[in-house]
Amino acid sequence: MNDNTRSGTGNNLDPWYGNYAARAAGLAASEVRALFAVASRPEVVSLAGGMPFVSGLPQDLVIDAMNRVMSNQGAAALQYGSGQGVPALREQILDVMALEGIKAGVDDVVVTTGSQHALELVSKLFLDPGDVVLSEGPSYVTAVVIFKSYQAEIEHVPMDEHGLIPEALREHINGLKRAGKRIKFLYTIPTFHNPAGVTLSWERRVEILEICRSEGILVLEDNPYGLLYFEEKPPAAIRSLETDGVIYLGTFSKTLAPGFRVGWALAPHAIREKLILANEAAVLSPSSFSQMIISQYLDTADWKGQIDTFRGIYKERKETMLSALTEYLPDLTWTNPNGGFYVWLTLPDYLDSKQMLPRAVTELVAYTPGTAFFADGQGRNNIRLSFCYPTPEQIKLGIRRLTSVINAERDL
Ligand code: PMP
Repeated sequence: MNDNTRSGTGNNLDPWYGNYAARAAGLAASEVRALFAVASRPEVVSLAGGMPFVSGLPQDLVIDAMNRVMSNQGAAALQYGSGQGVPALREQILDVMALEGIKAGVDDVVVTTGSQHALELVSKLFLDPGDVVLSEGPSYVTAVVIFKSYQAEIEHVPMDEHGLIPEALREHINGLKRAGKRIKFLYTIPTFHNPAGVTLSWERRVEILEICRSEGILVLEDNPYGLLYFEEKPPAAIRSLETDGVIYLGTFSKTLAPGFRVGWALAPHAIREKLILANEAAVLSPSSFSQMIISQYLDTADWKGQIDTFRGIYKERKETMLSALTEYLPDLTWTNPNGGFYVWLTLPDYLDSKQMLPRAVTELVAYTPGTAFFADGQGRNNIRLSFCYPTPEQIKLGIRRLTSVINAERDL
């Protein structure tokens, strides 16, 4: 142990405190983590996590696929595989991509251990300390954690009900250029945003891509929720417009199940080669077992019908949440997502959602405070509400409990 007290994680009770790499400082546990442990008690209605409702997937479908894989290709499933992913699955991923308006070739696909790992690999390839990542404000909390762990600076660009605002993006880029900053990429969740619940309009997709093209900024498009729409289909992915300047991330976590830990990236040729090398360096190969079960499932089950089933389940939950908000908190504002898992609630200015959380947990309801989704302390009076996991009855009860907490805070 050395006595160099760098800004590593840990504290003085940790004998290795002085030994951590500087980048480990970004991996500090969230302040609300301890509360979430309490919130996982069954009597607490959790509107906090983003867990898909996996019970909506008949287990027989998975057992059947698993049995077939083990009977017919057991040895291959238990073996290491290609660092780019199982070829048959990469081929099938192209059918999933076609539903998002994307045309790609089987060589374009790199299978990763969930899209979370793709975020890690892209960050490893592109981010040096002090580099800037542009992202929506708010943004996906664990992407922000990864970018910070590579010691990047996160520049949040505001959004409205149509997603990221192009004029604001231009202003931020100009300001950063004037300050001599190096912008590495724009990280965006254009469809059914986590946590904001909004979708980037088609016109803005075109405009934002144009801005990034002209500024030489790579776009990192993260799209886990695009197929989980409630009414009309969302606009096609940004990757449908551009092959060279976009890295697209997809996943089976929300349309099938996150336990498989299988996602993928579509990247421009040169980047793709580096991604495969980075994937191999990190995990040798993504799980053959998981990939082959998914491949079998896509081959034999009605996977599109299953996505429709999920869409129906989440639509009902969203509608329940919105009608409960309308009934109990009519003077507040919230987003109305046309898909995905999340509603973004805005409280009166003077309320602080993080301070309010212990009280909410005492009242047996949990949520994620808005500040978790910003790198710079914004979001104090916002709350992310997830409707994916609790049943409609629990959602209604949860919003009722949340209402009494909010009203007590504001003396109503
Ligand atoms: N990106 C976003 C926006 C997400 O919401 C999530 C999961 N919550 C992920 C990436 C990671 O998903 P995966 O399970 O594919 O790693």
